[in-house]
Amino acid sequence: MVAEWLASAGIPFERQYEIGKFHVDFFVPSAFGKGFVIEVNGCYYHECPLCGKKSFDPKSRIRDTKRYGILTGSGYDLLVLRECDLKMHPEAARRRLVKVARLMHSP
Ligand SMILES: [Zn+2]
Repeated sequence: MVAEWLASAGIPFERQYEIGKFHVDFFVPSAFGKGFVIEVNGCYYHECPLCGKKSFDPKSRIRDTKRYGILTGSGYDLLVLRECDLKMHPEAARRRLVKVARLMHSP
């Protein structure tokens, strides 16, 4: 979904982009910092504050917090999308994503 949305808005991106020891879901070259990172989190694999789903892996929240801290701490901007939000409100999610990604890419 996210790939199609970015592509149809003409925003350049890379999938599974390598940053240090991480692979991020989507990377958009940014006019500001080092880049704009978009992560799409499945509600079963990551804890989800939107639908309240608990992860099957209790360490996932700690791992995610650490990962996001390292990314933003080294100058990347980050947007975390939730699977349930994309499924339930695709049009609103698309609009929000394209708006932010466009701003980040070239203000
Ligand atoms: Zn959810």
